[in-house]
Amino acid sequence: MPEFVIPAPPQACLPVTTGRQFPVRRVYCIGRNYAAHAIEMGHDPDREPPFFFQKNPDSLTATGRFAYPPQTADVHHEIEMLVALQSGGRDIAPEDALSHVWGYGVALDMTRRDLQGEAKKLGRPWEIGKSFEGSAPISPLMPVTQTGHPQKGEITLHVNGAPRQSGDLAQMIWKTPEIICYLSRYFELAAGDVILTGTPAGVGPVQRGDVMEGRVAGLAPLRVEVI
Ligand code: MN
Repeated sequence: MPEFVIPAPPQACLPVTTGRQFPVRRVYCIGRNYAAHAIEMGHDPDREPPFFFQKNPDSLTATGRFAYPPQTADVHHEIEMLVALQSGGRDIAPEDALSHVWGYGVALDMTRRDLQGEAKKLGRPWEIGKSFEGSAPISPLMPVTQTGHPQKGEITLHVNGAPRQSGDLAQMIWKTPEIICYLSRYFELAAGDVILTGTPAGVGPVQRGDVMEGRVAGLAPLRVEVI
């Protein structure tokens, strides 16, 4: 072990339904991966090349609570499927992509929409809208041995019991293997990397006291209270 000059920060990790923890290295998020959501955000749903942003590993939480963040009056929910990698590499071939997946989870890509909108308008990076503390509540991960590789099935978000977001994984413009291949051309992927695969239509604001319930068919559900 190296001798640190300050206390080493803790390893970011996520709980797993079967016990033990998944250590997180990097967090990649794809934008506009469901046509209906691209349209609701004012964009053309044509299959243009995918684009990505990152969150920090320590912004992932599994506490069941989301602390309303500072400097915003418009925090939105985005329900997404999370892909957790057990290995990686560069220039991964499409037929090999899924062999790198350890498991899957349900994630919320919480977004300070007002700050993101301002950044978009000014041509600035999205981090200030996307990468704040606690910005990605996650359900316990499940291993591929239990889930297989989800390619279709409902993805939904309810707030206080009322339906808000609804879609099907089959509507993903870029499928999981394609996302892995594409990312691996630009970055070296590795064990511990996680990917948020985009959100269906119906994003909207939450307030303190709201309870968000996210589901992806076949995965452990996510329940998060806004505090
Ligand atoms: Mn998103």
